[in-house]
Amino acid sequence: MFVDPNEIVRHLVGLKDVRVLSYARRGPVGELTVEQVVDAPTCPRCHQRVRVKERPIVDYTDLPFGGVPMTLRWKKHRLICVNKACSMGSFTLGDHRLAAAGVMLTTRAAKWVVKEIASGQNVSHLARELRCSWDSVNTATRLYGAALLVADTKRLKETTAIGLDETLFVREGPYKKKSWSTTVCDVVNHQLIDVIATREFTEVAGWLRQQPHHVKDRLDYGCLDMSRTYSAVFRVVTPKATQVIDRFHVMRHAIAAVDGVRRRVQQHQQGHRGRSGDPLYKARKLLVIKETKNDPGLQARLEGLLALGDPDGEVAFAYGVKEAVARFYLTETIEEAEDLLRDIIDYGSKKSAPMEVRRLARTLRNWFDGILAWHEARVSNGPTEGMNNLLKRVKRVAFGFTNFENFRIRALLYAGKPNLRLFDSIVVK
Ligand SMILES: [Zn+2]
Repeated sequence: MFVDPNEIVRHLVGLKDVRVLSYARRGPVGELTVEQVVDAPTCPRCHQRVRVKERPIVDYTDLPFGGVPMTLRWKKHRLICVNKACSMGSFTLGDHRLAAAGVMLTTRAAKWVVKEIASGQNVSHLARELRCSWDSVNTATRLYGAALLVADTKRLKETTAIGLDETLFVREGPYKKKSWSTTVCDVVNHQLIDVIATREFTEVAGWLRQQPHHVKDRLDYGCLDMSRTYSAVFRVVTPKATQVIDRFHVMRHAIAAVDGVRRRVQQHQQGHRGRSGDPLYKARKLLVIKETKNDPGLQARLEGLLALGDPDGEVAFAYGVKEAVARFYLTETIEEAEDLLRDIIDYGSKKSAPMEVRRLARTLRNWFDGILAWHEARVSNGPTEGMNNLLKRVKRVAFGFTNFENFRIRALLYAGKPNLRLFDSIVVK
C-alpha cells in the first residue's frame, strides 16, 4: 500500500515549519525523516548569524500510524556561533512540539504514554507496544507526568477527611532494599493527595503543616492505621480532627491474632509447622472467611477441625473474638458499638485468654477512641471504606522502584485523579 508521506506528516507532525525528507519502511516499522525549516538561524546569545556544523539524525519513537509502528528520524541542526566575542559555542536546535530534550519519545507519544499509565497500564506493556525501551517510556512518564502534576493546580478538592498510611516500596537492585513511604489520601473524594518519601514524624508533620488552610483547618477526621507516628502528626498539626482507625486495619489485627493462636497451638500439638493433613491447618481459611458463620456446613466443618486440633479451645476463643470484632462493625448505634467494644476488650483481656488475644485486646484498648470513631465518621458520611481500595491501587504500583520520585509520580497519575485534559496545553521543553 502506498502511503503519501505528506499525508503521514500531517497526521504525525502537522507542523508547518517541519519538512518531510523521506518515508521508508524498515521491516515492520515506518521511518519518517523530518527536519526543521531553518532559514538564517541566529545565535540565541549574541543574535549574530551562525553556521551549520553538523546534521545529526536522532530517532524518536512515535505513535503508530494506521497500525504501523513509527520512528520519527529527526535530522537536526547542530549550529555553531562564529562570533569570536560570544561564548555560545555550538548548540542544537530543538522543537518541543516534536520532542522534549532528554526524552526519546515524540511529544505526542509521551503524552499518550502518561494517559495510559494514568489508566493503569504498565511501563513494560507500553514499551512493547511502541517498540521502544522501558527507560524511554519511564523517562517520558516522569517528565511529562511531573509537568502535568505541577500544572494541575486544581487537582485537590476540599475535603473533611484525609488518611495517612505507610506504604512499602521496594528499591530495585541486588539487595531489594525496603523503604517506607507515607501515602496521603483524600478519603472523601477517594483521591491520592500525595506520597511522602518517609514515615517519620518530622517529614509527615512538615508536609501537613505546609498544606493550605482549606485542607488542614477543615479536617473533621484524620484516618490512620494504628501508628503512633501518624496519631502524633494529627494531634500536633490538626488537633481538632477526630482520629479514626480504619475498619480494615482493625480486622487485620483480629485475623492476625486468630492466625497466631492457630500456629502456636498447631506447633504444640504436632511439633511442627502446619502441614496439609493437620486439622488446624485445614481450618486456617475457615477461621478467616466471613462466610463461615453464615454457612452451617462450613461452621460444622470448622467445629469438627477445631475439636480435633484445638483441645484447650484456644483457637475457638480467638475465633470468637474475631467474630465479635466483625460484629462491632455491624452495630447500628454508637452506644451499642461502644458496649460491644468494651465487652470484647474485657473478654479478650482475661487471664485465661490466649496471649495473642490479650495482645489484641491491649491494642483495641490503646486505640479505643479511634476505633469507635469509625462509627461516627461513617454516620457523617465520611471516610473509611474507600480508603483501602485506593491504597490497594497505590500499593499495586509500589513495587520495583529504583527511585522514589518515579514511584510518586506514577502513583499520583494512577490514583491522584489528575486532569488529563490539561495535556493539550502542557509544554515540556
Ligand atoms: Zn553568539
